[in-house]
Amino acid sequence: MSKLDNKIALVTGGTGGIGTAICQRLADDGAKIVTTSTNLEKAAKWQAKQNFDSTIIKCDVSNYDDCKSMKEQIEKELGVVDIVVNNAGITRDGSFRKMDTDKWSQVITTNLNSVFNISHQFVDGMTEKGYGRIVNISSINGQKGQFGQTNYSAAKAGVHGFTMALAQEVARKGVTVNTVSPGYIATEMVMAVPEEIRNKIIAQIPIGRLGEPEEIGALVAFLCSDEAGLITGANLAANGGQHMH
Ligand code: NDP
Repeated sequence: MSKLDNKIALVTGGTGGIGTAICQRLADDGAKIVTTSTNLEKAAKWQAKQNFDSTIIKCDVSNYDDCKSMKEQIEKELGVVDIVVNNAGITRDGSFRKMDTDKWSQVITTNLNSVFNISHQFVDGMTEKGYGRIVNISSINGQKGQFGQTNYSAAKAGVHGFTMALAQEVARKGVTVNTVSPGYIATEMVMAVPEEIRNKIIAQIPIGRLGEPEEIGALVAFLCSDEAGLITGANLAANGGQHMH
């Protein structure tokens, strides 16, 4: 029996670079995978390329009613969700002086409000069951700040505040809530950065390389396992030593 056999795992934004690796690893460990997308056509192409089964549900994580309908659909078709990975996220960068209200609110609603919108649907099912795992994907830039990312850094720092507060509320009910803060990961987006700039980024990483999406998948899978029951309210940095605190 694998570690996560019979567990239902919802990974938001599972079709993205890091999300795919999280889905893959949770599936390898035996979980049934459900993921969200705002673009079902793109998601169907993604699904066809994976070597694990998944259920894809159209859902905009920044919209509470979408998240509520998704929960109803999952419970009807699959059952009560055991694992939630709040991974969907976007960037809309710009220096603060050029930051407009659209860029600000799109990033806050997609990266931070989504964590409320999604978690709010599934926490009751977990506490009633006496078991649950919530993992929130933040970022190194939520820990140290980043030029041009006041919106993203605020949202990602907010995610960990949420983690610590909810972890306390559900600790007695067998539910853990943790944050994972990746550093620069070799996803398509980061690999599309011109090599010269990428090398400058790598020069700031003590281990001398970017992270691999699979390394984030492995960390998330560990936090979702029974063995990780002692870890709650934590913010686990996976950044090759680029930022320590
Ligand atoms: P990608 O851009 O590759 O994927 C993002 C995913 O989020 C897509 O699957 C997209 O799905 C989904 N998504 C975006 N907006 C919404 C929405 N409103 N509703 C539902 N789903 C949505 O991102 P990464 O894999 O690079 O990043 C994943 C997470 O890791 C993010 O939270 C990011 O901030 C964080 N992170 C990434 C780092 C990196 O180096 N890549 C470093 C640190 C943190 P679709 O388009 O199909 O709707």
